[in-house]
Amino acid sequence: MASFDFAQFQLEIQKRFSLPASATVDIVQLLSELETVHSDADSLLEQQTDGDRSLLACAPGCQDCCVVNVSITLLEGLSILQFLRQLDSVGLAQIIARLDKLWRDVRGLDDDERMMSRRKCAFLDDQGYCIIYPVRPLFCRSVSSTDVELCRGAITGQVFGELRPVMMYQFQLQLYKTIFLGVADGLEQAGLDGRSFQLCGLIRYLLNHPGQEKGLLTESSLSWNDLYP
Ligand code: SF4
Repeated sequence: MASFDFAQFQLEIQKRFSLPASATVDIVQLLSELETVHSDADSLLEQQTDGDRSLLACAPGCQDCCVVNVSITLLEGLSILQFLRQLDSVGLAQIIARLDKLWRDVRGLDDDERMMSRRKCAFLDDQGYCIIYPVRPLFCRSVSSTDVELCRGAITGQVFGELRPVMMYQFQLQLYKTIFLGVADGLEQAGLDGRSFQLCGLIRYLLNHPGQEKGLLTESSLSWNDLYP
């Protein structure tokens, strides 16, 4: 990890999303770039032979940390939206119902309150798997616990106001934080909306307001008040 230049990597990611101001915004191309960034990150992680990657404890079906506020950029939201639109109508209706219920319960909660509410993410299926795994947020990709029990203990401790440490695979954590910042900065430099929103509220809004994608990205007009109702 010491040899990896995160600052340089952030600049490279930033450049990939910062179109010239005169360029026409092509959402398909931006989504494709995001997909490429995901696969580049996977390759970088696979290339890591040193460090503590072998100690990574996160595994399919583990859902303990899926009770937190997840921040995503609008572009990530559009990627998830595109993925959800491929689901059948029954599956999509179930997700919309879950999003509605969850949003009613967690909107307005700060990070501590959200975790203490113990409400599971709307994208967890009945077996505890992430329905949107191929397009899951960068925030979720950064989670890289090396100790399941410490991870669970930290979340339980939060309920009692205790701060307990979570051991993380630092390269993965730092890699995705860097990508998140690079994407957000690049979008802002391109004059697009690089702000972050809460996962549940944003996806619910996008599903309820079809056809607004390009305007939202170029006008940066979405506000918290729009997501709240
Ligand atoms: S999007 Fe997937 S990984 Fe992220 S919190 Fe929700 S269920 Fe968990």
